[in-house]
Amino acid sequence: MNMALNADRSPKGGNTMNGIGTGGGKAFAEIYIVNNDSVEINKYIIDNIEAECKRIDNAREIAKEQIRAVMEINAKCQGDNNAGILDYQLLFLEDESFFDDIKRYINDQHVNCEYALHECVNSFIRDFEAIENDYLKERTSDIYDMEKRVQMVLAQRPLQDISCMAGECIIATDEMLPSQVMSMDRNNIKGILMEYGGKTSHSVIIARSLGIPCIVGLKDIKKLVANGEKVIIDGSTGEVNINPNENDISDYQQYQTKNQFKNIELKKFIDKDTRTQDGVTMKILANISSENDINLMLENGGEGIGLFRTEFIYINSKTLPSEETQYKIYSNIAQKNKDKLFIIRTLDIGGDKSIDYLNIKKEENPFLGFRAIRYCLKNPDIFKAQISAILRASTYGNIKFMIPMIATLMELRSAKKLIDEVKNELESKGIPFCKDTQIGMMIETPSAAMMVDRFVKEVDFFSIGTNDLTQYLFAADRMNEQVAYLNSSFHPQLLKVVKDIVDCSKSNGIEVDICGHAGENPYLIPLWVAMGVDNLSVSIPSILAVRQQICNTNKKDLAPVLEKVLAFDDAYEVEEYLKTKFQF
Ligand code: PEP
Ligand code: MG
Repeated sequence: MNMALNADRSPKGGNTMNGIGTGGGKAFAEIYIVNNDSVEINKYIIDNIEAECKRIDNAREIAKEQIRAVMEINAKCQGDNNAGILDYQLLFLEDESFFDDIKRYINDQHVNCEYALHECVNSFIRDFEAIENDYLKERTSDIYDMEKRVQMVLAQRPLQDISCMAGECIIATDEMLPSQVMSMDRNNIKGILMEYGGKTSHSVIIARSLGIPCIVGLKDIKKLVANGEKVIIDGSTGEVNINPNENDISDYQQYQTKNQFKNIELKKFIDKDTRTQDGVTMKILANISSENDINLMLENGGEGIGLFRTEFIYINSKTLPSEETQYKIYSNIAQKNKDKLFIIRTLDIGGDKSIDYLNIKKEENPFLGFRAIRYCLKNPDIFKAQISAILRASTYGNIKFMIPMIATLMELRSAKKLIDEVKNELESKGIPFCKDTQIGMMIETPSAAMMVDRFVKEVDFFSIGTNDLTQYLFAADRMNEQVAYLNSSFHPQLLKVVKDIVDCSKSNGIEVDICGHAGENPYLIPLWVAMGVDNLSVSIPSILAVRQQICNTNKKDLAPVLEKVLAFDDAYEVEEYLKTKFQF
């Protein structure tokens, strides 16, 4: 393949290019290109009705064959959970009356079959949604998926299913949705290369939690590699080596062997307390996104859950999850987690996490828009159902509420008022819950950081969301690779803000955690220890490495490091200094 790489000439064998590394180590596999762009549906008038009806019939047959082929691969895969979805799509494609309606529409309106299909799907779904039946409602997104499949066939574009792959691969794509990453084949997808996105976009966060290296900001990657080409990627440095030579492959194999030894060493820290050499204790908690993560968290020595991103319950559901569904999830996790800390963040929807059924209007600037607590306060029924589920589950473990994206005291007070209302309702119905369930808030907006001395009087704990705090502090979209240099946790401005929050929490006697990505950055961990952060909540694959590092440090040696860093002018100076001082 002739590659016009705007890449570095490197001493390595293949062509290399660099993107933004997001962590997760190295991987070696063949490329699999995934096209995520959607099909545009236009309406036009046609003359030949018969030919148009034939087109839809052909597309329908090809779509059926595709589904049968995916079902066959799925049947061979372990842990497949998409069979029901495909069954339903197939059933729908076999429904003669639905396809007769489409042909009637083509005949009556003299329009192209893409448009007729789209209109018939929409009208079908409108009827479907009018029926009070949860099972049928859940099927609406399967119908949309079926339509997408047929539209892709009509547009002569391949539709790719990444929930079950035939072999190991590294995906090269434009951008992925968090829900796509969640449902992909964890056994066979070894890495993700994206043209767009930022270090802390939620699809990257999910990939990291699965231990899958991910590199973003790789301009034109889909054009620069071909399906089946071999690549070695380094999720930490952001380097992609395309068509590596034998030496590169042997270096990679050595890396793998070293990594296996490292992992054996790390396992020794599973049951250890997190304590510095001079006796300062901290807890290494886990950031989780689903009920499945609890077992993984326990296997990796997590000392509790510092952030449950509950919006993924909503994202993974076809309709609004009921209070009962949520109650089961929270109480199941709480029971497995025993008496360990379990911080449940209330719904943080919006930004890069959208949900069709919540009908949030498309926004120009979703990260500055109708997000998280802003949405919840305007939709008290949805918010109260979640609060009630959390309170009811609180009898099973050490559960705490955490409210995201608080910008004003009024928002915090309104959220607390709704929690009180739900408590009263539960009490009047005689439903048990833990009356003193603590309420904490995330500090992730500059406005909350500036008034931290006032917020501190009204909550039980703080958790610093450095991902959002950085993007809002620097007015730099965390999803935009063009401004990635601003979305760095090495900026002295961010470190100063974090230190002020920690100082204020300490002097008021409340606990303060970090749950953003900066919490697990090995070069920054010495600073968090020096500041006196109580707990770090990190991605599951990082728990043991963070604990090992803290157990090997002395807090008293770190105060001068912190002082020096805070005196620097810019992020690159901080990063250079820390990378020279601490070598991993
Ligand atoms: C953060 O903003 O740092 C955070 C932990 O929340 P999220 O990444 O889910 O926005
Ligand atoms: Mg956040």
